Amino acid sequence: MMRVDGTVASDDEGGRNGGGTMDYGSAWARVKRRLRAELGEDVFASWFARLELEAVAGGTARLTVPTRFLKSWIESHYLDRVLGTFKAEVEEIARIEVGVRGTGAPVRTVTTGAPKANPASGPLARLHAAGASVPVAAVAPEPRQAAEAGGDLSGTPLDARLTFASFVIGRSNALAHAAAERVANHQGEGALYNPLYLHAGVGLGKTHLLHGIGHAAREAGRRVIYLTADRFMYGFVNALKTQSALVYKERLRGIDLLILDDVQFIQGKSIQAEFGHTINALIDAGRQVVVASDRPPTELEALDERVRSRLGGGLVVEITALDEALRVSILSARLAAVRAAHPGFDVSPQVASYVARAITANGRDLEGAVNRLLAHATLTGTAVTMDTAENAIRDLVKNREPKRIKIEDIQKLVASRYNVSRSDILSERRTAAVVKPRQIAMYLSKVLTLRSLPEIGRRFGGRDHTTVLHAVRKIEKLIGEDTVLGDEVELLKRMLQD
Ligand code: ADP
Ligand code: MG
Repeated sequence: MMRVDGTVASDDEGGRNGGGTMDYGSAWARVKRRLRAELGEDVFASWFARLELEAVAGGTARLTVPTRFLKSWIESHYLDRVLGTFKAEVEEIARIEVGVRGTGAPVRTVTTGAPKANPASGPLARLHAAGASVPVAAVAPEPRQAAEAGGDLSGTPLDARLTFASFVIGRSNALAHAAAERVANHQGEGALYNPLYLHAGVGLGKTHLLHGIGHAAREAGRRVIYLTADRFMYGFVNALKTQSALVYKERLRGIDLLILDDVQFIQGKSIQAEFGHTINALIDAGRQVVVASDRPPTELEALDERVRSRLGGGLVVEITALDEALRVSILSARLAAVRAAHPGFDVSPQVASYVARAITANGRDLEGAVNRLLAHATLTGTAVTMDTAENAIRDLVKNREPKRIKIEDIQKLVASRYNVSRSDILSERRTAAVVKPRQIAMYLSKVLTLRSLPEIGRRFGGRDHTTVLHAVRKIEKLIGEDTVLGDEVELLKRMLQD
């Protein structure tokens, strides 16, 4: 999503930039090194290699990239990450602003030492930065990428790790996964749900599922093209320039399955028109189209109403936030995979459950956390303790230490939610109206605190640890069977964690 929050800096302090940039230069170099280490070579090369520091003024670091696409990608996916990393190097950095450098593209022209009334920092400039009336040329590829794309439609390569086999299924993604598998394994005439449209926030597994579909369908002998939005746009711009749009379209139509990732980035009048034609042509010809986006089709403002409704005309499935059970499973799977390659790497279940509880945002951060734990373990040659884990993932926890939750608070909240009193919960009473909230409170105490079963038993009116264990197992089982209760418990958890 575009971030246009009016943080166009006032440039009162612009005069200091010259000297300041020198000092910030080496800090910025360290920031880039850290991003490279934490995100891995591939991610870094794709998004950060050409990210440059232009200036720091009044707590705002102005960064630039060569294309609008990179700008909006970094803004929607990595802004917090970059800010956090930069802030760790230079305290005073409070905001990050990303601009597009070079000619032709709308640059945030905030001139140093300009008078306050300079319209360049006013609403007009913001409108420009937001991409209002951006000519197609603004998304023109850089020469290197143009050469790479070369009008060829081989698509973006699939990541060998992102398969159905490595995808962990949970409540929030079960439907998306089932639809993806059916589409990938579909044999025979026509397409199933066309298009299949997956949407979810960042890091919830869209790209993973799309690659999974790609792998499976290829294994079944189908002709698959997977394209990210930028590849789609660069391909088109290039094809249009070399006047081979017809060829481009013909070749697109010669495939069985088109997978398009991050369609929210497809923009520009002629591109979206071609996009619409392509989708229509494929669907009308009975070819499967699969699309992923960070929002539902109705909210793809950059696209024409007809294109939106076509995109929404198949099956639209949302992947919702990863619940804790799913985070634990994803994390365990990642840890197991890493351990296979690094036999000395050992993370206790306690640390793993701490990480899964602390990192609630998404799968990408879970992966980042595993990389850091590994880095720590290999660099120091010591086992990962709770303390080192806490340090290693601190900035992934989004300025929020996981709250130490008290058993008493759990009892109070659960009691009020179920209209009983806390003393009922601690009492000997065994009526159903009391037993259930008591068991839920015991379960929450087990999963949200580090207390042992006997300790929890003591805090629940001096009960035996086997009683607590029974309650925990019972609620776990019920959550698996009863989604209403599952949601209820998840909600209680969130209320306690906030
Ligand atoms: P998105 O495309 O929705 O932003 P990704 O597919 O890139 O998210 O997922 C981010 C990371 O989290 C990837 O490393 C991915 O493998 C992992 N991930 C997300 N969901 C799952 C899942 N259900 N099982 C296994 N890994 C997952
Ligand atoms: Mg993705």
